[in-house]
Amino acid sequence: MKLADGIEVLELPFKNPMGVQGIVNLTLIWDKDTVVLADTGFPGQLPQIREAMDRAGVPFDRLSKVIITHQDIDHIGGLPDILKESAHKVEVLAHEIEKPYIEGSKPPLKMNPERLAKMFASMPAEQRKQMEAVFANPPKAGVDTTVADGEVLPYCGGITVVFTPGHTTGHISLYLNQSKILVTGDALVAADGELLGPNPQATYDMDLALKSLKKLTQYDIETVVCYHGGVYKKNANKRLAELANG
Ligand SMILES: [Zn+2]
Repeated sequence: MKLADGIEVLELPFKNPMGVQGIVNLTLIWDKDTVVLADTGFPGQLPQIREAMDRAGVPFDRLSKVIITHQDIDHIGGLPDILKESAHKVEVLAHEIEKPYIEGSKPPLKMNPERLAKMFASMPAEQRKQMEAVFANPPKAGVDTTVADGEVLPYCGGITVVFTPGHTTGHISLYLNQSKILVTGDALVAADGELLGPNPQATYDMDLALKSLKKLTQYDIETVVCYHGGVYKKNANKRLAELANG
């Protein structure tokens, strides 16, 4: 879905390792100098990313930077393939706290052995085997550049990094200065045309996640892109304030 000149949401259908189907919403931001992709889908989704970029008129070969909102498998899954298949160096940016998780020097924050054992316990043996294989070898990739709260990345009219911990400890959202679009990662979700707060089941620290929502109300936001649930446009500032004060 095209949101503005040089901003396209790449809506990629997936079936996750647990067999659940859905859509992840990656954001592509570009101008004549720079092409930025925010998040990278599940492992195996690079062909879909390429196709969606082609449809947007931005060939994969032009990709210059990837910003990762956080470490979860549905956000970093496509990253190793992107780095491997790009003909040139693609710079990877993320918050300092997320870096060791993305690089694999720390095990995934929310996918620790106890949590996995619990999740897998109720699964049929065949599926459990598949899942164990995925998590025995989670995707990982080097982070070149760490970004900090309030930093304005000088690409495509300015991309402001907003540190929004809670879903994970180093989660960031991105505010696109020119278009007033908030790329929210998993700090918020959308469902059936409504903007909702963070999903408690998937959130590491709910109190922190709710505090982060308050921070988002400092920005003038016209459009919210939720990685899960897609684009939300109706009175975004008002709705965000409601969620932050709720
Ligand atoms: Zn996610």
